Amino acid sequence: MAVSEKSIDERITRLQSPGLVDLHFDLPMDLFEKRGGPNVLMTEFLPELEAGNIGVLAAAIFIEDRYLAADRTLSVALGQIARVYAEAEQSARFAVCKSYREILQARQTGKIALLLTMEGVEPLGSDVDLLRVFYELGVRVIGLTHARPNAAASGGVFAPQGSPRDGLSAFGREVVSGCEALGIILDLAHINPAGFRDVLSMTTKPVIVSHTNARRYYDIERNISDEQIRMVGQRGGVIGVNSVLVSPQKEQSTLDRYVDHIQHIVDLIGIEAVGIGFDFFEFIYRQWTEDARRELAAKLTEPHFIPDLRNHSHARNLTRKLIERGFSDEQIEKILFGNWMRIFKELL
Ligand SMILES: [Zn+2]
Repeated sequence: MAVSEKSIDERITRLQSPGLVDLHFDLPMDLFEKRGGPNVLMTEFLPELEAGNIGVLAAAIFIEDRYLAADRTLSVALGQIARVYAEAEQSARFAVCKSYREILQARQTGKIALLLTMEGVEPLGSDVDLLRVFYELGVRVIGLTHARPNAAASGGVFAPQGSPRDGLSAFGREVVSGCEALGIILDLAHINPAGFRDVLSMTTKPVIVSHTNARRYYDIERNISDEQIRMVGQRGGVIGVNSVLVSPQKEQSTLDRYVDHIQHIVDLIGIEAVGIGFDFFEFIYRQWTEDARRELAAKLTEPHFIPDLRNHSHARNLTRKLIERGFSDEQIEKILFGNWMRIFKELL
């Protein structure tokens, strides 16, 4: 190994050592599907999380269409939370955290902090009282919708326009007020443009977008426009850059394009406002049948996985790329963990 290569390697190790924060991962539904098996978190996830120095991982409760249709929404949501706790308990390497202090404690003892989040409020049905229940169970970040409409709001479509013109329903407004009152961070990922504006107009605290991309490089409503990016910046929020929607073109779905999204957000609203929301999804996609993949492509889009950023073990590739692209150590630390930790400190 050449001297310069060795020093870059050491620099990556040093930058990553405090532990990266990833604000979106579909962990609970996979643990739920594999319930009854051996400790899935330890055997299937820990090696990659360790290889990538992941320190805080947002575990998103998400209810698939088939469970909504079968009227099992609430029980599946609770089942997912149960699996996260049960699996974390079986391992000395994880801790489910509900506050900034608990996150710091977990990190100081070398544990990976799991933060429960909710992607779509379908588990609440239309009962805002259940928000309190999920808060008590540890949910600390909530996005009102996935790509589909629900009782609270509508998701942005995977096209430049076409989502409902309506913003939040009366129920959606109750959920947003409830989140601010309880201390649940509001996540604007997925929501349609009208809902995005509504949430901002009725809140005062920083908001986040846990996993998204800039429409400048992938122009669909599911991503966010320059105007929306500025709105988050004005509020002191943070935007997590998603790895699976960096470009509509497969050939352009590269690590460099991922960093282009980071750079674009930095150019618009500064280095304090960007973080990571990898949304690594290939491990679930691989479990699907051809039919299920075709259905996703027809309903939403065909995901293009970045060859050298496909799972948590690849996080060093991102840090290396940020160095190559001229980011300073201080800037890289903000992107990898500093900005999200600031949000936790302020809001949790
Ligand atoms: Zn998502």
